[in-house]
Amino acid sequence: MRFLIALLLVLAVGTGVVAYGPGISFRGESTEVSRESAEIPVGEDDEQGSPPPAGSPEAFAYEESGREKIEEQSPEPKPTIEPAAVQAGEEIPGTDGLRVVTGTIRRTVNHTLADKLEREVANPLSQVVSRVLVWWMEPSRDLRPGDEIGVVFSLHDGEEPRVHAVSMKSQRHGRTFSAYRFQPAEERFGRMYTSDAKEVEKRMVGSPIKEYEQITSLLWDGRGHNGIDFKTPVGTEVYAPFDGRVVRRNWSTRFNGNCIDIRADNGKHILFLHLESFAEGMVPGRRVERGELIALSGNTGRSTAPHLHYEARSPSGRILDPFDLHETYRKEVPESEKAAFEATVEKMRMLLGEKPVVADAG
Ligand SMILES: [Zn+2]
Repeated sequence: MRFLIALLLVLAVGTGVVAYGPGISFRGESTEVSRESAEIPVGEDDEQGSPPPAGSPEAFAYEESGREKIEEQSPEPKPTIEPAAVQAGEEIPGTDGLRVVTGTIRRTVNHTLADKLEREVANPLSQVVSRVLVWWMEPSRDLRPGDEIGVVFSLHDGEEPRVHAVSMKSQRHGRTFSAYRFQPAEERFGRMYTSDAKEVEKRMVGSPIKEYEQITSLLWDGRGHNGIDFKTPVGTEVYAPFDGRVVRRNWSTRFNGNCIDIRADNGKHILFLHLESFAEGMVPGRRVERGELIALSGNTGRSTAPHLHYEARSPSGRILDPFDLHETYRKEVPESEKAAFEATVEKMRMLLGEKPVVADAG
C-alpha cells in the first residue's frame, strides 16, 4: 500500500514518459570485469550457519525515516491505478523511465534480482549495483539471507542500466545503506551520493584521471583484479600521479593494449593499460612530472568497454592498492545544489519506500 501511495505521489509530480524499445543490449564492462561472475555469493564463513546476529530484522532500524513519514503524512488516497500495473522492473509512468525492484536476499544480489527481472537486465544491473555495495561491505562475506535490497534504475539502449538509487538493509552491519544518483552542474557524469550529499566513491588526491563515470573494479572487491578500473570514454586525459621515469611501453599488447610502465622516484611502478594513445615523447627513459599529461585512455587490448586500468607495484613486483598511495576524499554536492539533491533523495525514498512489489517465491 505504501508503495502505491509513493507511486501516486510520483505520478502527481511526474513529467513525460520515455519509452524504450524492446531490443535493449548491454555491453560488458572491461574484460577483467566481464570475465568475472556478476554473482556475489552469500558468505560461507563460519557465521553462515550460526543464529542471526543480534536480533530479528526488525532490530535494524532504517537510517532514513522517510518511509514512516510518507505513511504518517499521507491519508489513504483512492487508488487510481491497479497495483499490478507496475510490476517489479516495469517502467513507472510519469517518472521518465524509472523502474523499481526490491527483494530479499536469499543467495546473491544477482539471484535476487534475477528472480524479479529478465536475466538480460538482472545480470548487468547487479554488476552496477555491486559497484556501489562494495564501498560499504564485502558482499561475498557480508550478505546474509534476509537482507533487503531495493534498486531504482532505468534502461538505455546500448548502455549499462543506470542506477538511480540503492538501498541495502544489512543484518551483518545492523543498518541500511542508501545511495542516490545526482549530477551537479559542474560534473561531467552523474554519481552516487549518500544522504549526506557526499559521493559514495572515494577520490584520490593527485589521481591520474579526473573525469570518469564510475570505478568498476577495485582491489578489494573480491574479483582478484590487479588494479583499479575507471569507466571513462576513450580519449580521457591520463596524468602522471607521481614523478618518475618511463621504463617500458606496449608489452603484451594483445592483453594490455597500449600500455605504459612508469617507475616512480620512490621505486614503485605505475602501470596504465588499454590506452588509446600516448602523449608526445612518452618513450622509455623520458622523465615525467606529477600532473603531466602522459596518455589518453582507450579501449585497446583485452577490453570490451572504454576504461582506464591503473595498477601499482612495489619494486619487487608485488601488487599495491593505488588507494594506499594517495590521500583520499569524498566530494560533496555544491551548496547551491543541495536543495535539488534533497528533492531527488525524497523522490527516490518514495519509490523505494515499501516491501517487495512482487512477493518472494521462496
Ligand atoms: Zn583493469
